[in-house]
Amino acid sequence: MSLANKLALERRGRLAAERLLELKEAELSAANRKLGRHAAALQGEIVETRAEVANVKTENERVKTELGQANQKVEIAERRLWHSVQTITDGFAFFNSDNRMIAANSSYLTVFDNLEVIRPGVHYVTILQVLTDEGIVNTGNLTPEAWRELMTERWMQPQPEPITVRLWNDQYIKLVDRRGHGGDIVSLGLNITEAVQYEKQLKSARAEAEAASRAKSAFLANMSHEIRTPMNGVVGMAELLCDTGLSEEQQLYVDTIKNSGEALLVIINDVLDYSKIEAQKLQLHPEPFDLERCIHDVIMLLQPSAREKNLNLLVDYDLFLPTIYVGDPGRVRQVLTNLMGNAVKFTAEGHVLVRVTGVPDLEQGQAVVNIAIEDTGIGIPEDKINHIFGEFNQVENERNRQFDGTGLGLAISKRLVDLMSGEMWVTSEDGVGSCFGFKVPFELGATELPAHPPVPEGLRRMLVVDDIEANRTILQRQLEQIGMGVVTCASAKDALARLDQIDLVLTDHNMPGMDGLELAEAIRASGSEVPIILLSSNTTYAASDPGAKHVHAILQKPLPRADLFTHLQSVGPLLRPPDGTLESSAPERRTMRVLAAEDNKTNQLVFRKMVKDASIDLKFAGNGVEAVELFQSFEPDMIFMDISMPKMDGKEAATKIRELEKTAGGHIPIVALTAHAMDGDDQGILASGIDHYLTKPLRKPEICGKLIEFCPEDAAPPLPEKSEVERQAG
Ligand code: ADP
Repeated sequence: MSLANKLALERRGRLAAERLLELKEAELSAANRKLGRHAAALQGEIVETRAEVANVKTENERVKTELGQANQKVEIAERRLWHSVQTITDGFAFFNSDNRMIAANSSYLTVFDNLEVIRPGVHYVTILQVLTDEGIVNTGNLTPEAWRELMTERWMQPQPEPITVRLWNDQYIKLVDRRGHGGDIVSLGLNITEAVQYEKQLKSARAEAEAASRAKSAFLANMSHEIRTPMNGVVGMAELLCDTGLSEEQQLYVDTIKNSGEALLVIINDVLDYSKIEAQKLQLHPEPFDLERCIHDVIMLLQPSAREKNLNLLVDYDLFLPTIYVGDPGRVRQVLTNLMGNAVKFTAEGHVLVRVTGVPDLEQGQAVVNIAIEDTGIGIPEDKINHIFGEFNQVENERNRQFDGTGLGLAISKRLVDLMSGEMWVTSEDGVGSCFGFKVPFELGATELPAHPPVPEGLRRMLVVDDIEANRTILQRQLEQIGMGVVTCASAKDALARLDQIDLVLTDHNMPGMDGLELAEAIRASGSEVPIILLSSNTTYAASDPGAKHVHAILQKPLPRADLFTHLQSVGPLLRPPDGTLESSAPERRTMRVLAAEDNKTNQLVFRKMVKDASIDLKFAGNGVEAVELFQSFEPDMIFMDISMPKMDGKEAATKIRELEKTAGGHIPIVALTAHAMDGDDQGILASGIDHYLTKPLRKPEICGKLIEFCPEDAAPPLPEKSEVERQAG
C-alpha cells in the first residue's frame, strides 16, 4: 500500500475517530444534562422528605405530650376513683373470673381486722373460711360448714341474689354481688344495721300496737258479752209481758222496751263482730246448709217491715243451681240480713229482688254462687259508692239522715265475704235503686243436683195468678221445670175466665181490684171445687179473713221451691177421692222430762215462762254440780245448760254427763244457752259434749223448737200439733 493511501486511510480513520469522539461527547453531555436534571429532582425530593420528617417529628412530639397528659389524667381519675371507693363506708371489692380478689377498699378489709391473708390474690373460698374460723360472722342456726356451703353456692350463681349476713358485733351487712361480662365480680357490702334495727323497732312497735288493739277488741267483746246478759232479762221479760193481758197503752210501752232492747242488741252484735274480725278471732264454721232456705228465713224476718211499706220481696233462685252447700250458715245469713235489710230500709216503694245464680261444677264438687240484691230505693251517689264500705261510714245527706244504723253493716259484710274467699260489689244509680252483690265459692253439700219430690198424680195444669210479672215468671219457670202445664193471669178477673181444665190455682193475696181471697170466694161461688193455694206476705192477716176457708193452704211468699213442691204434694189427697180410713188413736204417753241448768234467778223465771204452754216436767239446777246430780236422779229427756255457772260450769257438767253415759249408755241431747259466744268458745262448748247451742236472749220459738225436736217417741208431744192454716198464721 502506498503511503498516500496509508495517509488517506489514517486520515479517514482519524476523521472517523473524531466523529465518534464528537458523538460520544454529545452523548456524554446529554447524559450529563439528564444526570443534572435527575440530581436537581432528587435534591427537591430530599428537601421535601426532610420537611416531612421534621413534620412527623413535631407530630410525634405532640402525640407524646398528649399521651403523657392523658396518662396523667387517667392516673388522676384512677386515684380519685380509688380514693372515693376508699372513702365510702360500704365495703367494695373486685374479683376476677378465678374468684380471686383484685382489689378491696379499706371498709371491706376492716371487717377482717386487716388480717394479712385477706389481700389482693386471696380466693373467695378462703375469705369465707376466715370469716367463720375467726368468728367474724354469726352463722345463726347454721353450722360454719353449712353457712360456707350456702355462701359458695350463692357466689357461683350467674347473678347471685343479695344476702344479708350478721357479724359478731350485731352489724348487718347486705352483700350485693354483680358478675360482669368477662366473669369478673364486683362485690358490694352495704351496712344496713340501722335499717335492720329500725325494722326491729317498727316490728316491736307494731306488735305493741296490735296487742293494744287486741286488748281493745277483747275489752269490747267482753263488754258486749256482759251487756247481753242483762239485756237477756230485759228483752225476754218484755216478750213474756206481751203475752199477758195488757191495755193498749201498756202494750205500746212493752213493745217499745222490746224493740229498743232488740235494736240495742243489734248494735252490740255489730260492735262485737267488728271487734272479733279486728282481733282476727272470727272463724267460719262450715257445715252443710240450705242456701235457698237461708234466704227465705231472712225474707221472713224482713217481711213485717216490707209489708208496712207495701214492698214486694222477691226471690229468683236459679233453677239449675243446687241449694245445699257447705258454708257457715250463720255468717251467710248475717251478710244476707245486712244487704237485704239495707235494701228494705232504703226503699220506699217498689220491690227488693234477691237473684241467685251460679254454675255448679259437679266434678270439682264446687259452685261459685252469685247473690245479687236489687232494690228500687234511694240509690247511692256515685262519689259515695266506695265510701260506704268503710267502718261507720254512711252516705251523709238529707235523705239518708232519716234512717238509723251504725254504718258498720257493710264493713262487716265485706270482711265476712272476704273471709269466705268471695267478693262483694255494688252498682247504684242515685234516686233509681241499688244492687249489692257478692259471690262466694261454696263446696257442694250434695253430690247430685237436687231432685224435686214427685208431683201428685192428677196434677197437670195450674193457674198462677199474680199482678207482678216477675212473680208470675219465677213461678211459671219453677213449675214448668217439674213438668207442669202453667197458665198465668195478671188479675183475678182474668183468672175466673181461665178455670177450665185447671187442677190447682196458685194465687197471690194482695192484688189490685179483686184480691186472692176474693178470687177464692168467686171461684167457689162459680161452683168450682178446684184446690186453691194462697201466697201472701201477711199470712196471719190472710188466715183471719173469712175467705181463708176457701183455700187449701196459705203460704208465706216468696217461698222456697222445696216448700212449694211439698205443698203440691199435700194437694194430692184433694185430687183423689179420700180412702176413708181413720188413724187409730195413739196409746197414752208419758210427759217429757226437761232439765234446765241456770244460776240466774231472772233467767230461770224467763225460761219457766217461755215454756209455760209446753206440757213438760221441768226441773232447774242452780249450777253444774246440781245438773250432774239431777241428770242421774231425774233422768231428763233433754238438758238446757247455761255455760257460766258457779261451782261447775256448763261445759264441765256436760263433760261429766258424757262420762257417766259411757258406762250407763245413751246420749241425752244437751243444748247450751250462751251469751253470744266469742269464737273459740263455741268450739270449746261443742268439744265438751254439748250438741247444740242457743244464743241469749232466749226466744220462745227457739226453745219450743228444741223441745219438739228432742221429744222422745214414748213421751207425749210437749206442744199441741197445729193445723196447716193455724201454723201458717203463727
Ligand atoms: P247502716 O245501714 O247501719 O247505716 P251499712 O254499713 O249497712 O250501715 O250501710 C252504710 C251506708 O250505705 C248506709 O248508711 C247507706 O247510706 C248506704 N246504703 C247501704 N245500702 C244501701 C241501699 N240498698 N240503698 C241506698 N243506700 C244504701
